[in-house]
Amino acid sequence: MKVVIVGGGAIGSSTAYHLAANPHFRGELVVVERDPSYARASSMLSASGIRQQFSTPVSIRMSQYGLAFIRDAGRALAVDGDAPMLAFKEHGYLFLASESGTGVLRGNVAVQRSEGADIQLLDPAELREKFPWLSTDGVAAGALGASGEGSFDGPAMLLAMRRKARALGVKYVAATASGFVRAGQAVRGVMLDDGSVLHCDTAVVAAGAWSGRVASWLGIDLPIVPRKRMVYVIACREELPRCPLVIDPTGNWWRPEGNFFLCGRSPGEGEPDPDEPPLEVTEAMFYDHVWPALAARVPAFESVKISSSWAGYYDLHLFDHNGVVGRHPSVPNVVFAAGFSGHGMQHSPAAGRGAAELVADGAFATLDLSPLGWQRLIENRPMWEKNVV
Ligand SMILES: Cc1cc2nc3c(=O)[nH]c(=O)nc-3n(C[C@H](O)[C@H](O)[C@H](O)COP(=O)(O)OP(=O)(O)OC[C@H]3O[C@@H](n4cnc5c(N)ncnc54)[C@H](O)[C@@H]3O)c2cc1C
Repeated sequence: MKVVIVGGGAIGSSTAYHLAANPHFRGELVVVERDPSYARASSMLSASGIRQQFSTPVSIRMSQYGLAFIRDAGRALAVDGDAPMLAFKEHGYLFLASESGTGVLRGNVAVQRSEGADIQLLDPAELREKFPWLSTDGVAAGALGASGEGSFDGPAMLLAMRRKARALGVKYVAATASGFVRAGQAVRGVMLDDGSVLHCDTAVVAAGAWSGRVASWLGIDLPIVPRKRMVYVIACREELPRCPLVIDPTGNWWRPEGNFFLCGRSPGEGEPDPDEPPLEVTEAMFYDHVWPALAARVPAFESVKISSSWAGYYDLHLFDHNGVVGRHPSVPNVVFAAGFSGHGMQHSPAAGRGAAELVADGAFATLDLSPLGWQRLIENRPMWEKNVV
């Protein structure tokens, strides 16, 4: 069997690695990646956080596998004894809620705990005791991941998965896919922009924020779009002991990164959020929104300055902010794995393993990812993720 994967970011490379390592798979594996430097790939530009605090069981279970994968990467992804270091820092996530947000927060925590996640629900006095540097004005409750949440080196994970996949025989082709060759319902090849065709028995669409465009070549409507998100690196003179990744009720977030902090926000309702704007950073977002909110929450942030910044694309799935992993009934030999809407780094191990199982085993063999399949789109049943940061 010959499999061609379109897109060699974290999800495409995870699919390639898991497929190459799957004992049921015998065949040839090719990854088509238009930019081996990954300059605009989300996987190189993410904030690389992992959390258990999602609102649906499937996302929490995917994070649990992501966590186990990150912890075991030094062993599983080693090549010739050279083990990757993913530098996992278990600082936790802290979701803060105003009075009106506590119902959703408590509902989410109930789902998370029922899935075995180690989440503490804290009242304002408990928050102040744990984090004396935090102002709890307007905060009614907080949910803290006491273990199993934090940040890691996302680019290192992507490159380690790619290196391991190659060591297992996967071929990476530096080219842009431009269409599919079809025979009836089936896809028989991936066209490249130099006019050549990579023939295949199965294709995998893992083109990240551009997966909607790739789906359109098959006449399939998949509302995944590239939406710019900016990350600001700020220097603060004071230390904030035991600082987690904090999500303020205003939607602004920050987390520690060595001696610095990363921070940012997604545009609010009604704010402009165009598809695929240039990836340049505008500081107005920081000065107008992020900084005022951070300084109100942490007095020490009143005197910060931007040290550096970057922007990348969220792979935003407009349908319900959840990824799609599965085969579309109109093209049964194409597997989709994309659209994780800002949480695809941590979910790339589980998404790639699931896509690999669909190819090698014909069904999900470990974690059942069918809630992320096409059926919900076909039946117009969105499964909204309530904790999108
Ligand atoms: C600022 C920011 C912060 C984020 N923070 C987090 C976080 O804290 N935690 C988390 O889990 N996730 C986070 N994410 C989201 C995460 O980065 C993405 O969900 C994830 O990287 C998606 O992986 P992917 O492989 O689908 O996409 P990508 O990494 O974008 O890979 C897709 C690849 O497909 C290639 N491609 C596209 N079209 C073609 C074509 N026609 N031919 C050939 N190749 C093609 C692209 O070049 C690209 O390399 C963040 C994202 C951003 C931008």
